[in-house]
Amino acid sequence: MTKPIIAFVSQLAEHEQVTWLQLLSAKLPNESIKLDKDLSQAQKLHCEIAIVANPNPEKLSQYSQLKWVQSLWAGVDALVAELTSNKQTPSFALARLVDPLLAKTMSEAVLTWVLYLHRDMPKYLQQQKVARWQQHRYFLPQERTVGILGLGELGKLSAIRLSDNGFNVLGWSQSEKKVKGVQCYSGNNELITMIRQCNIIVCLLPLTATTNQLINCDLIQQLPKGASVINFARGGIIAHDDLVKYLDDGYLEHAVLDVFEQEPLDKNNPLWSHEKITVLPHISAPTHFESAGDIVASKIKKYRINGQLPVCIDWRKGY
Ligand code: NAP
Repeated sequence: MTKPIIAFVSQLAEHEQVTWLQLLSAKLPNESIKLDKDLSQAQKLHCEIAIVANPNPEKLSQYSQLKWVQSLWAGVDALVAELTSNKQTPSFALARLVDPLLAKTMSEAVLTWVLYLHRDMPKYLQQQKVARWQQHRYFLPQERTVGILGLGELGKLSAIRLSDNGFNVLGWSQSEKKVKGVQCYSGNNELITMIRQCNIIVCLLPLTATTNQLINCDLIQQLPKGASVINFARGGIIAHDDLVKYLDDGYLEHAVLDVFEQEPLDKNNPLWSHEKITVLPHISAPTHFESAGDIVASKIKKYRINGQLPVCIDWRKGY
């Protein structure tokens, strides 16, 4: 009997696609995984699983019998937006990468950059440039309130890690949550209540119709003066013009931005040279090949045994 084919659909460079293909094939010796470009039209019609990384949605639409699409990335906002742009829900289920190692990596990034702001590193970097010897007041971690927007796979562990390091941590999500050591808020009504207390906010929300441009002047105004913003989620969640305005007029202290609407960020973009902005090239939590491969392989093995789909995104919510 011929093995059913799993399609690998991606716009990554071909050598990257081949690396993934080799890794996944080694972890799934009983499966036949093939690149989209190597499949005939007839073969595509028999695929019920596709593994994707930045796929071209038109290519994906050629697979009319798909039951399940597994992304290798944790964020699937661009794919969801493209697949639902005609206001229709695709007939297949979409699972994103949920990897405890990724959450650990993100929590490390959150702790790193919160400490960077907490210990006034941006100020000392500027001072060194002009040989200025000036000491700023030291605050204890418990004197800093950090608000995490999004208490999902990445936000929850990040909140716990900050709390374990002595910070006063608040968190916000759509539905009510209980997280040890974290004061939790939920829903639109409680956002402002939380924001008003935060010296630092860390964005770990998915980009959806509801979170698009959520961090705008209305929200920024609710932060205490001197607060800082970290965005590790998606560029579209921040209205960058508003952010820059509030940094320029001295209301906000600093912003650490790892994600942008256009990536790579254009060389001429003024965000690069803004002295109150730290620009990072989308590095806070990269997908770990081996770990992601193990997780995807294990989901596929389970599906082959019991026919059950893994946890998938809710098309209506967009995450
Ligand atoms: P997740 O598990 O889906 O968690 C999302 C969280 O956001 C949940 O707590 C959810 O609330 C909350 N949320 C969503 N919409 C909301 C709204 N309108 N109001 C209030 N809360 C809302 O996602 P994740 O795995 O933690 O990942 C978060 C994002 O991180 C991804 O979407 C991706 O864009 C980004 N990311 C970035 C990098 C990087 O390297 N920079 C790497 C990986 C991921 P509920 O819990 O109530 O549903």
